[in-house]
Amino acid sequence: MNVHHLDHPLIQHKLTLLRNKKTSTAGFRRIAREISLLMAYEVTRDLPLETVEIETPLETMQALQLSGKKLCLVPILRAGNGILDGMLDLVPGARVGHIGLYRDPHTLVPVEYYLKLPDDIGERLVIVVDPMLATGNSAAAAVTRLKQAGAKQIRVVCLISAPEGLRTFQEEHADVPVFTCAIDRCLDDHAYIRPGLGDAGDRLYGTK
Ligand code: URA
Repeated sequence: MNVHHLDHPLIQHKLTLLRNKKTSTAGFRRIAREISLLMAYEVTRDLPLETVEIETPLETMQALQLSGKKLCLVPILRAGNGILDGMLDLVPGARVGHIGLYRDPHTLVPVEYYLKLPDDIGERLVIVVDPMLATGNSAAAAVTRLKQAGAKQIRVVCLISAPEGLRTFQEEHADVPVFTCAIDRCLDDHAYIRPGLGDAGDRLYGTK
């Protein structure tokens, strides 16, 4: 499977804090921001570099910089927004697209209600961000939509994924790597990830 496990000790420690039901809404939001910065670091570790000539205060040198068009981050609303700002702390020049999908509570099928993407999305590395890859249906629908819009290079980043969701996602998009901090045991009857961290949107925004 095209899945990368983000096993950095700081990521794993912060994920445990997020999972703990005793973590407050304010704490959850702060830690989500911290962990997403680290996730951005991991998902960008193979970005191409080019050499440019610069002058240090002492001499001229050939130095490295990122080459080509840069990133477009695409959070899936609303929980995706909770892991957007930490990524932007690290890559402030990234463009941000938004995709609004909600899960029909009966069919669990994702329904699109909002889409706004930069025009040059086809020239950027597109990173879809959503804390929970549960059934995989939302991530798969988002990636399908991004491909229709012209995106060619896409990655998905999440905090926690379910094995079932990873399988579903990869059946549809084997070309799109998933970067996840944890692969949990399973989905329950309500499509929540177990053990998981609960409803990421509610935990971020204190709506329950
Ligand atoms: N979405 C969430 O926020 N949590 C889950 O466990 C599954 C989907």
